[in-house]
Amino acid sequence: QDVAHDYLEVRGLRVSFGGFVAVDGIDLTVVQGDLRFLIGPNGAGKTTVVDAITGLTPATGSVRFGGTELIGRKVHQVVRAGVGRTFQTASVIEGLTVVQNLDIAAGARRPVHRLLRPRRSVEVVEEAMETVGLAAERDRPAGELAHGQKQWLEIGMLLVQDARLLLLDEPVAGMSQAEREQTGELLRTVGRRRTVVVVEHDMQFLRSFADSVTVLHQGSVLSEGTVAEVQADPRVIEVYLGA
Ligand code: ADP
Repeated sequence: QDVAHDYLEVRGLRVSFGGFVAVDGIDLTVVQGDLRFLIGPNGAGKTTVVDAITGLTPATGSVRFGGTELIGRKVHQVVRAGVGRTFQTASVIEGLTVVQNLDIAAGARRPVHRLLRPRRSVEVVEEAMETVGLAAERDRPAGELAHGQKQWLEIGMLLVQDARLLLLDEPVAGMSQAEREQTGELLRTVGRRRTVVVVEHDMQFLRSFADSVTVLHQGSVLSEGTVAEVQADPRVIEVYLGA
């Protein structure tokens, strides 16, 4: 399958708000199977990078995914190109069950009458429910789920939408230690066949699960490499300890 060749290639990405340059020409390459964490102090530009990739914020430069240029595209076009993101606050529909949320997300990608549930969507939804560990909760309203489970449901919604690039904004914020570990395992599983970028502050989580790390500072890439490499980088130490 051609998904084996997916990768995200960002070149010279630049975002300014009025006269203020929030992202100052960054390059970033993330290949499938490499669980990449994006870190940096508050205001470094992490969220702006994700917003620019997903078409929420106008940017210049180039963002290619799966051979498609995303800069200048509208959000729905970026979604159709296989890009999905989560926000810090889960955007599940609390009054609907787990399976209903997933059905709607599946339909959002390929509009069909929901009552018909064609076999392909059923399979995709069932598989996603298994992957994110919510099969036992299928008929519970999303509003009754634990905090961690809501985040997993949201990841499941990206899976059924067939997102091949997942951009996750602080997925373990507010989670218990057990939930963090389950989330890390989930990201590892998902990351084998999809390209995953995680914006995260939690250093312990990063040490346990990141394959590679890109450190942003003042809109530029300060350092990049394995966890051990960036942790040993004097520039990174200075930025974090000097903050
Ligand atoms: P991070 O996610 O790393 O904390 P952000 O991407 O949110 O950083 O912000 C990067 C910089 O851009 C910050 O200085 C922030 O104040 C600024 N910024 C973000 N969004 C806007 C906006 N809509 N208008 C003006 N400045 C913004």
